[in-house]
Amino acid sequence: MNMNFTYNINPSRIVFGAGALDTLADQIRELGTHRALILSTPFQRADAQKLAERLGVLAAGVFSEAAMHTPIAVTRNALATYKALQADCVVALGGGSTIGLGKAIALRTHAPQIVVATTYAGSEVTPILGQTEDGVKTTIRDRKLLPAVVIYDPTLTLGLPVSMSVTSGLNAMAHAVEGVYAKDCNPISSLMAVEGVRALRDALPAIVSNPADLAARTRALYGSWLCGSVLGTVGMALHHKLCHTLGGSFDLPHAETHAIMLPHTMAYNAQAAAEALQPMADLFGGSIGSGLYEFARNLGAPMALKDLGLKEEQLDAAAQLAVKNPYWNPRPVERAAIRELLQRAWNGARPE
Ligand code: NAD
Repeated sequence: MNMNFTYNINPSRIVFGAGALDTLADQIRELGTHRALILSTPFQRADAQKLAERLGVLAAGVFSEAAMHTPIAVTRNALATYKALQADCVVALGGGSTIGLGKAIALRTHAPQIVVATTYAGSEVTPILGQTEDGVKTTIRDRKLLPAVVIYDPTLTLGLPVSMSVTSGLNAMAHAVEGVYAKDCNPISSLMAVEGVRALRDALPAIVSNPADLAARTRALYGSWLCGSVLGTVGMALHHKLCHTLGGSFDLPHAETHAIMLPHTMAYNAQAAAEALQPMADLFGGSIGSGLYEFARNLGAPMALKDLGLKEEQLDAAAQLAVKNPYWNPRPVERAAIRELLQRAWNGARPE
């Protein structure tokens, strides 16, 4: 346990529970704002429009073109809409893609952000933004990016498809399991990490059995808040580096890639970070790598990178990129071992 630490507590308001969305109008007013631009992806446009109708005069309008990895071209259009409608805050309704757009607007306008989170990815509680332009992704970390208010209303997640619930939940868990061995971890971030993973471990199988189980949805959202908070507080390592490489350079889908890679990256680090990972391993039968592999398989998660469209001949290049400018990691990041790890993840084989 790291007992010499600096803990930057992120100052957001969290409003949690079934029906929490009913407080949205009050949250907008309490920020001293009165014209919210509602953001969503095209898929959630109807929900965003309904929300705007509910808000009445507090809604300046809807912009529903949010897209994965926050393309700058979309941000420019959203900014033009924000200014044309004379909005004074943003409400992001959705997952990481929509929240990224809200952060990108805030970065350029200082607009206060309210997030209504509908996936488990965790971006709503991080001061992190990844943006893309001409195929190049750049990530910034700045406390100005942190949403002022996050509304977690589990009733809004009842319709999150089971496959997305599973991959998004595993994506959240990845933040927490990497958080316990972070160089800058602290006792509170580690408590949140273990509690967050425990909540998702219990909730995800129940959601697979019954996606309309509100108690399980509530527990999953609680877990995702804790895991996202860990991502927002401490640095990430090999797992996130590999997923960023696979997503950024080979265009693999975000949550699915995290879901497939997690057992393999944890097996890679298991010995080097044995003490820090022990409470996590205990949650999965004692072995973090094969425990997570079994857990994901029982949930019906995607298991093999080949099923995401990655070609076997791309593995050499992926390994090469992954060892270039590596993030700090408890075990040295060695090319041959990473190439082997990627092969197993590509095959969908059990981690060693
Ligand atoms: P997403 O936001 O891309 O959502 C995927 C799809 O699911 C979208 O069409 C969305 O509209 C839909 N959807 C969302 N909630 C739904 C619901 N409840 N019911 C039905 N459909 C729903 O997916 P994501 O995994 O949340 O976010 C991925 C993006 O977020 C990536 O770009 C990733 O890089 C970024 N991210 C950033 C951070 C950060 O801290 N900056 C953290 C995690 C993820």
